[in-house]
Amino acid sequence: MAEFDYDLFVIGGGSGGVRAARIAAQYGAKVGVAEEYRFGGTCVIRGCVPKKLMVYASTYAEHFEDAAGFGWDVGERRFDWARFMDAKNTEIARLEGIYARNLDTAGAEIFRCRATVLDPHTVHLASHGEQVTAKHILIATGGTPFVPDFPGSHHAQTSNEIFELPHQPERVVIVGGGYIASEFACILNGLGTQVVQVYRGPQILRGFDDDLRDHAATEMRKKGIELRINEDVTEIREKEGGYEIALRSGDTLEADFVLYATGRIPNTEGLGLDAAGVALGRNGEVVVDEWSQSNVPSIFAVGDVTDRMALTPVAIREGHAFADTVFGAKPTKADHATVPTAVFTQPELGTVGLTEAQAREEGEVEIYRSTFRPMVHTLSGRDEKMLMKLVVAKDTRKVLGVHLAGHGAGEMIQLAGVAVRMGATKDDFDNTVAVHPTASEELVTMRSPVA
Ligand code: FAD
Ligand code: NDP
Repeated sequence: MAEFDYDLFVIGGGSGGVRAARIAAQYGAKVGVAEEYRFGGTCVIRGCVPKKLMVYASTYAEHFEDAAGFGWDVGERRFDWARFMDAKNTEIARLEGIYARNLDTAGAEIFRCRATVLDPHTVHLASHGEQVTAKHILIATGGTPFVPDFPGSHHAQTSNEIFELPHQPERVVIVGGGYIASEFACILNGLGTQVVQVYRGPQILRGFDDDLRDHAATEMRKKGIELRINEDVTEIREKEGGYEIALRSGDTLEADFVLYATGRIPNTEGLGLDAAGVALGRNGEVVVDEWSQSNVPSIFAVGDVTDRMALTPVAIREGHAFADTVFGAKPTKADHATVPTAVFTQPELGTVGLTEAQAREEGEVEIYRSTFRPMVHTLSGRDEKMLMKLVVAKDTRKVLGVHLAGHGAGEMIQLAGVAVRMGATKDDFDNTVAVHPTASEELVTMRSPVA
């Protein structure tokens, strides 16, 4: 008789958990997976996927306007929020089904309930009221939105709620300057909502290259977003038809929806990890080593719950590497170096490698930068510029960072990421023949450093 009920029990059916469970099962492990909400996790249900569908929806307004410059007459247009939400929900349900089916096909056993840890080898399944044992337990419970505590903070809502909102808000105040706040400022602005984005620091998107941040903020303002920097909310008061939002500066705003996008915290509360002796970090994250193993040898963790890099492809890599290592006899570490990323704002941002400021701390650099009006806007007449920037090491000529803003930046950065990861030099970029006429040809035609 087997010593444990399962070789692996995974808590959390999101990006990291599903990948780990599926790969481990394909290696022949007996796997159980518990999901308390919906399979697919944050990314599929209330993150990347519905967000990107909203991004697509929100860009049509400009396409309709720009079409006139190309000779098109576009008739009356109106965005139907409810119709979009129905279509979005149907697609999300389809993807959710695929996630669960893939687990089933791989041979993993699915539990649709909350699971908690009782000890290093025992998991409690809430709705079944039963306990199961496992040789290995994988914590893949993701994260949850964080809202600071202040007077009226209970009126603040998060990205979780916006995906379920029955009506389009007319006026929204968005607090935060990171990925979610900036993306939703652009989405809602594009859909016709009046948007004020409030950020506590001097410029949004802290951590990104400074030129990229400035460019994004300038273009977002041009599109009609009211960006209030060095500002914060001190109180939210309910009033007839919405909310009154008091600001640190003494100003007040009015809105019918207040979106807080002030970061996410690891989902470890009430998970029983302390009882099992698992060490948690300052934000409640499971502390793991480069193999995603916690201080309790049978308990591993991947994805947002480890607070390393909260991106779906990273969670997937970590889950896959864990399964390869523990069940596939292929010791693999998830590599967190030179991870390309995109912010789906308007303009879209794509970035990989070091920012100019980071690179300058390591040595002398050359900066190649081009700001230009893309060809499409010569006829559309739209006042919108693209930015392309290369950060190059002066001694080795290695391209240390690529930073892009404009249409297709997310698509472009995927390929630039391959080059940077391979250690491409500025000469490799220069020697690559341009694709004409494209915006991305600028990446291989910038010849004179600006600094
Ligand atoms: P999750 O996907 O969060 O999965 C964790 C799962 O565990 C959840 O389904 C949860 O219900 C379940 N769970 C939690 N506790 C328990 C329990 N005790 N028992 C059973 N089940 C439990 N990343 C990108 O790369 N690109 C993007 O464009 C992007 N956009 C985003 C937009 C938004 C609005 C948000 C919020 C996030 C976005 N992200 C994006 C980040 C991305 O969604 C996460 O990094 C990714 O989902 C992390 O995967 P995970 O497996 O760690 O956790
Ligand atoms: P971020 O960490 O990106 O941004 C959080 C923002 O909230 C920052 O501007 C931060 O300010 C601000 N903030 C934090 N605490 C407070 C506070 N107490 N009061 C006021 N402002 C505060 O988190 P998000 O919630 O936007 O997104 C979570 C993560 O999800 C992202 O970091 C990213 O990893 C992932 N994600 C990825 C996407 C993508 O790949 N396109 C899209 C969406 C999310 P400050 O900078 O000053 O600290």
